Amino acid sequence: MKILIAEDQAMAAIFLRRTLEKMGHQVTVAQDGEEAWHFVQEEGASLLISDWMMPRLDGPELCRRIRLAQAEQYTYIILLTSLDRRDDKLTGLRAGADDFLTKPPDPDELALRLEIAERILAVHEQLARQNARLRELVAVDELTGVKNRRRFREDLELLFAQSERLESPLSLIMLDIDRFKEYNDAFGHPAGDEVLHGVGQLLRMAVRGHDVVARYGGEEFVVLLPGTDQDESLRVAERLRKAIENQIWTHRAVTASLGIATTGDLISTSAMLVDRADRALYRSKQAGRNRVIHYDHSEIGAPARLA
Ligand code: GH3
Ligand code: MG
Ligand code: MG
Ligand code: MG
Repeated sequence: MKILIAEDQAMAAIFLRRTLEKMGHQVTVAQDGEEAWHFVQEEGASLLISDWMMPRLDGPELCRRIRLAQAEQYTYIILLTSLDRRDDKLTGLRAGADDFLTKPPDPDELALRLEIAERILAVHEQLARQNARLRELVAVDELTGVKNRRRFREDLELLFAQSERLESPLSLIMLDIDRFKEYNDAFGHPAGDEVLHGVGQLLRMAVRGHDVVARYGGEEFVVLLPGTDQDESLRVAERLRKAIENQIWTHRAVTASLGIATTGDLISTSAMLVDRADRALYRSKQAGRNRVIHYDHSEIGAPARLA
C-alpha cells in the first residue's frame, strides 16, 4: 500500500517509516500537516497516518481539510496521539479520522489496523468504480448511444464558460430529422429507432473527439463544437447533413435540417445560443428542409447553404 506519514519529529517519522517499509508498504513522509495537505491535493493518498500535534497545521485540522475537499479518492486517516483522553478522540472523530493509534505504535497493532484500513479502502474503491459506471450510464442516451440531454446541458454550461474565458468561439448545431413521422408511419417504430441509432453513430463518427454529440429529444440532436467559428461550423454541419443524406438506409433516404449559432458579442448566455440554433433550424425547415442555416447568415439575407 502507498502510505503517507505526517510527522514533525524526525525520529518518530523514521521509526514509523522503517516499520511500514518492513511490512512491504511504500511510504512518503511529510514534515507537517501543511506539507501533507499539499501532497494529498497533488498526488492523492489512500492512507494517511498523521501525528496529532504538528506546527502550521495539526492532525485534526488536516483531517478536516481532507474531508471537506471530498476528493474522488477516499483517504483513510489514522491519527497518532500520545494523549489518551476521551475528549481528544472525540475531537479526532469529529474531524473525520477513521482510527487512532497511540504513539509510538506497536508494530503488531499497526499491522492489524492496516488490514482494517485495506478492507475499508477496497470497499471505497469498489463504490467509486460503480459510481463511475452509473455516471456513464445516466449520461448516455440508450437508443442512440450519444449523450443524453442532461449531460448536454452540463457540457454546454462548461463549454460556454470556457469559451468566454478563453475568448474562443463555441458553435452549436441543432439537427432535426425531416418528416420523421412519415418514416415511422410507413415502416414502423422499430425501423424509426434504427434510423435514430444510425444518425447518432454517424454524427459521432463525423466530429472530433472533444466535440459533444447529444440527443436533444425525439428525433432532434445537438452538436457542440468548441473552438469553432461560424465559417467552420457551417462546413462541419454541411458534412453532417451530407453524411446522413448519403447513407444507405434500410427503407428509404433520410435527410435532416440543421440550424447553427455561434457565440459572439450579442450572446451572453448559453440559453441564447440554444435559442438561436433552434431558430436557425426552424428557418431551415421553412426553407424546404435538408439544409444548413446559420443564425447570423440568415439574419443578413438569403439562407446560407454550402454547395
Ligand atoms: P419535420 O420535418 O417538420 O421535422 O417533420 P417530422 O415528422 O420529423 O416532425 P414531427 O415533430 O411532426 O414528428 C417527429 C416524429 O419523431 C414523431 C415521432 O413519432 C418521432 N419520434 C420521436 N421520438 C422517437 C423515437 O424514440 N423513436 C421513433 N421511432 N420515433 C420517434
Ligand atoms: Mg508532533
Ligand atoms: Mg422535431
Ligand atoms: Mg423532424
